[in-house]
Amino acid sequence: MQNQQQLLKNRPTGLPDENTWELVTTEVPELREGQILVRNHYVSLDPAMRGWMNDRKSYIEPVAIGDVMRAGSVGEVIKVNKHPSFKVGDVVTGWGGVQEYHVSDGSGYYPVDTRLAPMETYIGTLGMPGLTAYFGILEVGELKEGDVVLVSGAAGAVGSVVGQIAKLKNCTVIGIAGGPEKCAYLTEELGFDGAIDYKNDNLYAGLKKYCPKGIDIYFDNVGGDILDAALTKLRMNARVVICGAISQYNNTTPIKGPSNYLNLLVTRSTMKGMVVFDHAKGYAAAARQMGQWMAEGKLKSREDVYEGIENFRETFLRLFSGEKMGKLVLKIV
Ligand code: NAP
Repeated sequence: MQNQQQLLKNRPTGLPDENTWELVTTEVPELREGQILVRNHYVSLDPAMRGWMNDRKSYIEPVAIGDVMRAGSVGEVIKVNKHPSFKVGDVVTGWGGVQEYHVSDGSGYYPVDTRLAPMETYIGTLGMPGLTAYFGILEVGELKEGDVVLVSGAAGAVGSVVGQIAKLKNCTVIGIAGGPEKCAYLTEELGFDGAIDYKNDNLYAGLKKYCPKGIDIYFDNVGGDILDAALTKLRMNARVVICGAISQYNNTTPIKGPSNYLNLLVTRSTMKGMVVFDHAKGYAAAARQMGQWMAEGKLKSREDVYEGIENFRETFLRLFSGEKMGKLVLKIV
């Protein structure tokens, strides 16, 4: 049986280009005892993958040159060689990588229930991005009823869930997103109280309009100039959650730090980084809660699915151009 795989060929400078990955065909090895073979149906395309390609110390080892590109995935177990926890036909999510088939000892895989939600939702709202939103806003952000919450990357996988959870907790939620279509999605479909189109409108004027009394939480997915602008609106004892900084991931110049950070001092606010993996013990309970909200129609999930392992790079780049709605997913089969 043959396996198509996207291998990391060169570490990119700036945006990944045609020399970054190589699509190869290899033979799927025979399973040893205790191994399973997973057929990847959907691969998760996440901004963090860009960081994993840099040869730099981070919260996780970089992907080695020549290795299959690391990625979250959801698929089906199609072969088992004496594994105690998995059987043929199980639908599982884990770290299958950008490839058609994954031979694994089962580590990091867990089963999902496709009667509750389609497969691809388990790499979105009911997977790593949804869990990031859940722990990021509730625990790291210490969300309280009535807070004014500002979230950037608001129409994306993490941001859209952050805003919806804050609405569920009776907060005022303002999103920042690129383009009128995304802003309309936030206010008309997800119930946000306001949306600022940072690509077409003046960010500071938008903040003045929608956050006249300031903000209690800024959930930052993008960093750069938007973080700087948000820091000017902090109320007393505000919390800034540093979840990501996508505007900086492809920089070829030094990362832009916030120049307005002294507002943290003035308002006695905190700015705290988070990594979702630190909350692993709470994943199951959080996923159950989010599944219940989805079943009750209180939490909406949107995936944007593109097809074909050969289209991996072009699809991945949509994360940075913003040409996608909701969670970006690559369909493999
Ligand atoms: P996403 O928001 O679904 O997709 C990325 C979005 O970022 C794009 O759609 C685009 O939206 C926006 N964007 C791209 N370039 C931008 C720029 N220069 N300035 C402003 N916005 C820009 O991605 P996601 O999976 O939900 O991830 C969101 C953030 O969370 C990322 O920074 C990611 O690294 C981080 N994250 C962190 C953790 C953690 O544990 N800390 C876990 C998961 C994700 P627009 O069209 O609106 O510009």
